[in-house]
Amino acid sequence: MTVKSILSVCLGFMMLPVMKAEEPEKKAAKDIVVGQANMVMEQHVSELMAERVGFKKDIAMEKLAEASFNAEVARESLMFPAEDLYGSNWNTKWVDPFRGEAEKPNFPDSCAINCSSFVYPIDTIARVTSKYGPRRRRMHRGIDLKVQKGDTIRAAFDGKVRIRNYERRGYGYYLVIRHPNGLETIYGHLSKQLVHVNDIVHAGDPIGLGGNTGRSTGSHLHFETRFLGQAINPAEIVDFENGVPVHDTFVFRNVKINGRKSNIYTSSGDQLVYHRVKSGDTLGKIARIYGTSVSELCRLNGIKPTTVLRVGQSIRCNAGASYVVKKKKTAKPSVTVEAQNEPLAAVAAEQNDAAGNQPIYHKIQSGDTLGAIAQKYGTTVSKLCELNGITRTTILRLGRTLRCS
Ligand SMILES: [Zn+2]
Repeated sequence: MTVKSILSVCLGFMMLPVMKAEEPEKKAAKDIVVGQANMVMEQHVSELMAERVGFKKDIAMEKLAEASFNAEVARESLMFPAEDLYGSNWNTKWVDPFRGEAEKPNFPDSCAINCSSFVYPIDTIARVTSKYGPRRRRMHRGIDLKVQKGDTIRAAFDGKVRIRNYERRGYGYYLVIRHPNGLETIYGHLSKQLVHVNDIVHAGDPIGLGGNTGRSTGSHLHFETRFLGQAINPAEIVDFENGVPVHDTFVFRNVKINGRKSNIYTSSGDQLVYHRVKSGDTLGKIARIYGTSVSELCRLNGIKPTTVLRVGQSIRCNAGASYVVKKKKTAKPSVTVEAQNEPLAAVAAEQNDAAGNQPIYHKIQSGDTLGAIAQKYGTTVSKLCELNGITRTTILRLGRTLRCS
């Protein structure tokens, strides 16, 4: 219906009360009252109709404005991905974007990350050759997927290329993409990079070719998911058996250790991780396996560092500080964290690709504890003490730099 025809209908309604008013006077007073009531009603209707026409026009204009506004927002969110989290940070050198930067991230208590637009970065479902977790006394911060040299590697989400670099003793030819959902993804050991820094990419766009460059034996893709520079187990986000996101939306929560934010994010809060004590296990060994500290294990289990472990006893190994908002119906239940965190040295012996041998440093921030730092860097308190010539009781000065690897 055109605006004109709606208007003429409205005019017709407006004329009705006039005609009614001209009816003979012999009508009963009751009728007059009814007529007046009708008149009021009809005026009301016509007013409503007129308003509706106005509304429709407004809505049409609003929709247009909204569409162009949304397009603008989408464009901006790709130009400045997750600016609310990363601020003006656009470090094109380091995988951890805050490394060496004066501006530090503001770690939120939690963050909902929309993963629904995820695209599996390889065209066929690849075999996982090495999982995320501690590996030969160091942290493997990604997941390794078997690819052939020259296989197309695709962007997992829409985003903007932050790093295109080469690291001979680490990632080889690699790319880092920042996404509007707050995540960053890293693609390592490529034989060729197909995109450049500041390029805007869409989920599924080819960004590189699989390879065997850097610290790698056997061509594979090293794939990482990070949030504010902190590695998150990609298996929490991606169901690698089916190539789909595990959940449409994740709520990552900042793990609290001793009531303080650790700036370690996890989505696996409701899945408490337990370790069944085997012969020869020590708290130090268990802490290393699960990327935590002896003091944290003691806190979680109400035990002391000197407590003798019984074989078969269950030790709780994580803080369990988060939950998942929405579960994807089609996805299989995610693998338990316990399985993901198994020691991988034997499995991974041939797939060594950790990020180089350069020492990693941590600048002490307010609220830091040795336990939290150890967990963040996948090491132990005793190792930190050894590396920095300090004791467990040393007071950490703000701004002091601790060597963590
Ligand atoms: Zn790897």
